[in-house]
Amino acid sequence: MEILGIDIGGSGIKGAVVDCEKGELLSERLRVLTPQPATPGAVAGAVRELLGLFAWNGVVGIGFPAIVSAGVARSAANISPDWIGVNVAELMTAATGCSCFVLNDADAAGLAEMEFGAGRGREDSVLVLTLGTGIGSALFYQHRHFPNLELGALPLKGGLAEQYAAAVIRKQAKLSWKAWSKRLNLFLIHVERLLSPDLIVVGGGVSRRSEKFFPYLTTRAELVPAHLLNQAGIIGAACHAAARCQPLEP
Ligand code: BGC
Repeated sequence: MEILGIDIGGSGIKGAVVDCEKGELLSERLRVLTPQPATPGAVAGAVRELLGLFAWNGVVGIGFPAIVSAGVARSAANISPDWIGVNVAELMTAATGCSCFVLNDADAAGLAEMEFGAGRGREDSVLVLTLGTGIGSALFYQHRHFPNLELGALPLKGGLAEQYAAAVIRKQAKLSWKAWSKRLNLFLIHVERLLSPDLIVVGGGVSRRSEKFFPYLTTRAELVPAHLLNQAGIIGAACHAAARCQPLEP
């Protein structure tokens, strides 16, 4: 099934047509800027613009950077607070005229890594992290998924973990790779104490530079970069939508 997967991030909204059986992109990946402030109306307009670039009128899967339960946004750490309580799926469906299915962006990336990437075939506990503007997290055990985990919201060093150790902080605070890695390691130690995952898959744009920071990380868990790099969110969002709009077996 071919579905347009969209990943809504703090700086860009990226999309591509996805082959949901193979977990592969069938088109190039296109991007529009995330409007600032990223209010519901403005983001819906940007998503409509992105669909226009693909001349798309089919089903759409969207990864959204907040807690999403039954299509409704329940948090707003790195987006406008106006999103809280908004039914993102209904808003996007109304704005685009296409059936839109929405889930948390890290859950989307995690589902894709488990199905087609670094977590494929792993029955033990796998934690997928996305390091970007925030810290996203998705947890799996025996391929079962616990949604909306929000480990980036753990308290760390007097604030939230993602305000201390997200990838964007390295650039904003002009930290060396080593100094940022120490922050990330502290977060990972904290997470290991709570969850003891067997495998940690590190995703987000920074995952393609893993040689710069993996050497400083001391987790007991096996640590690997995401295989799908920053395509995971797009692929996972599309596959989530595919699973929801399949016609039922007669
Ligand atoms: C949000 C999460 C999201 C993560 C990555 C955090 O600020 O609270 O829901 O998954 O950023 O975008």
